[in-house]
Amino acid sequence: MKSVEEFSEEARTWLDANASRRPVDAKSGWGEGSDDVSIFHNLAYEDEKALLDRAKAWQQKKSDAGFGAITWPQAWGGAGLTQAHKDAFEDLEMEYVTPDNHETFSITQNLIAPTINLMGTDEQRELFMRRFLRTEELCCQLFSEPGSGSDLASLSTRAERDGDEWVINGQKVWSSGAHFAEWGELITRTDPDVVKHAGMTVFMLKMDTPGVEIRPIRQMSGGSSFCEVFFNNVRIPDSMRIGEVGEGWKVTLTTLGFERGNSTRMHRIGGGWREIRALGEHFGADDPLIRQKMVDVYIGERVGEMSGLRTQASRKAGAAPGPEGSIAKLAWVQQLDRVARTAEAILGPRVTADTGDWGTWAWTQHILGAPGYHIAGGSDEIQRNIMGERALGLPMEPRADRGPWRDLPR
Ligand SMILES: Cc1cc2nc3c(=O)[nH]c(=O)nc-3n(C[C@H](O)[C@H](O)[C@H](O)COP(=O)(O)OP(=O)(O)OC[C@H]3O[C@@H](n4cnc5c(N)ncnc54)[C@H](O)[C@@H]3O)c2cc1C
Repeated sequence: MKSVEEFSEEARTWLDANASRRPVDAKSGWGEGSDDVSIFHNLAYEDEKALLDRAKAWQQKKSDAGFGAITWPQAWGGAGLTQAHKDAFEDLEMEYVTPDNHETFSITQNLIAPTINLMGTDEQRELFMRRFLRTEELCCQLFSEPGSGSDLASLSTRAERDGDEWVINGQKVWSSGAHFAEWGELITRTDPDVVKHAGMTVFMLKMDTPGVEIRPIRQMSGGSSFCEVFFNNVRIPDSMRIGEVGEGWKVTLTTLGFERGNSTRMHRIGGGWREIRALGEHFGADDPLIRQKMVDVYIGERVGEMSGLRTQASRKAGAAPGPEGSIAKLAWVQQLDRVARTAEAILGPRVTADTGDWGTWAWTQHILGAPGYHIAGGSDEIQRNIMGERALGLPMEPRADRGPWRDLPR
């Protein structure tokens, strides 16, 4: 296997030939380039679709050159290299102007492709792995329901067997990217007469199947990143079942495990120290309280980076993902808040109205987006429960949900 240094040299040559270098400090140079610090996209459907198409094309170009899906086997369009190679490429790529990423990529490549790899059949791996890793097609996560979020295992969307097919009725909500995805990983209830964790089954659903209705939800930051999805007698062939009938919880926990592990390198969303420093330099940071907030942002970012390196080192040494995924996620969302509060303190009334000034109103997209990640991927309270129970060994929460799902209060 080529060394990280050798690989980085090849990557540098390829990036030089295929993208333009970001001018040094373009993001911190005041008034130059994009001032986007959004956490969620705030675009009209057509504009977001166009962004997605550009991002897909870039992803496929990287895959064809051996720089896409770096840790995955070549047979599936990957490069067959290590996490260290992947991190090295991502760090280099940051130095170039490339199409914006989209959150459905991470869901497809980092959560659902690995789930299919672990729990799917050979036919399913053959069907999905390559097209997901190259982002030829995208997949969303159809898990949460209006009555089942933190307590996901209480879900009600029903799947009933009819010969070689399953008939689905029910509703999902907060399904990120469902309006752009070709596929959805869908968790359903197949047996209401057993305990809630035992009667679930997972399927891959083609999102344009008759009976699927997708309604985007408008967020307070302006965009529509996620949707309600309704199922009205939707038919899925049994060949699209992932795992055994009744073992859907195992499949779902696998996807959620990948989701928490993934948050260790999510710090590139929204604004960070670089942009806060630029704000401070431009508007002045003489106020000692603002200076203190700025230093806290710097410390938070450095500690986050170092914890990420520690997690990577323990993975490299063969350790299984543990509660550190919850610690990393909580630390990351706290950092998003720290950045938001500091930007507000520096900008003051400039974030209350769009005056057209570069680098000011744009911050509302960070400030209004940050709260969403206290909830997405498991709320702060749930991460704290995981840390309390699994890392600190505190007593388990009292449970009132024993007995068949059908008899549980909902
Ligand atoms: C930006 C965003 C993107 C999302 N994307 C997706 C997606 O793609 N697919 C998908 O399926 N879902 C998605 N979700 C949904 C997300 O997983 C749920 O919102 C989350 O799990 C919380 O569930 P809930 O909204 O039903 O809140 P609830 O579970 O009703 O929780 C309400 C409040 O009670 C607290 N609480 C609940 N149980 C406990 C407990 N046992 N101990 C202490 N406190 C508790 C919670 O922390 C929260 O503060 C997304 C959500 C957001 C915000």
